[in-house]
Amino acid sequence: MAKPIVAIVGRPNVGKSTFFNYIVGEKISIVEDKPGVTRDRIYADSNWKGRDFTLIDTAGIEEKSEDKINVSMREQVDIAISVADVIIFLTDIKQGVTEADKEISLLLRKSKKPIVLVCNKSDTFGENPDIYEFYNLSLGEPFAVSSVNASGIGDVLDEIYKYFPKEQENTNSDGIIKVALIGKPNVREIFFNKQNIRYK
Ligand code: GDP
Ligand code: MG
Repeated sequence: MAKPIVAIVGRPNVGKSTFFNYIVGEKISIVEDKPGVTRDRIYADSNWKGRDFTLIDTAGIEEKSEDKINVSMREQVDIAISVADVIIFLTDIKQGVTEADKEISLLLRKSKKPIVLVCNKSDTFGENPDIYEFYNLSLGEPFAVSSVNASGIGDVLDEIYKYFPKEQENTNSDGIIKVALIGKPNVREIFFNKQNIRYK
């Protein structure tokens, strides 16, 4: 049975690797103060409500980082759109909505994939007025989480769970999804077989 694939996208330094590590329960992705540092394993299996799923930190393929959207970030979004059943769009509530966030939102909205908008670094409990501007991204209700104190993450998992394909759907004869990515001078291929993800 194919596992649902959940991809995390977002600008450098919003906390994607921290969020990923919290959910998979191990320090797999490297967390750094410097943007764009993820260079490590970027996929792992997890389970919610008895359902296994594969989580991908798509930023693992970033080659360089800038605060503005760049080719790498577009690729990251393209990968998410190609392989994921559900996309988690992570933003930083302390920084607010940035131009890059707006550009990513546009790409994600066009994809028609289920998107869950998450405002990370919501470290204080209670009413959070900073969250309201995120409604302007037109991606539905934003979820406030803190990946460092682990608040709000269960609500995000409940939300992604709603979009998991029914158990009998999404099976593929050899279990392999091959995605060709165009957007660079060379076409890059990703072979994704649920156990292993490989970039060429
Ligand atoms: P990525 O580039 O999006 O993968 O971001 P990282 O996971 O590497 O995190 C970037 C920085 O943000 C690190 O210093 C993290 O400790 C910090 N960070 C991540 N999540 C949170 C959070 O929920 N609250 C706060 N205050 N800092 C966070
Ligand atoms: Mg990272």
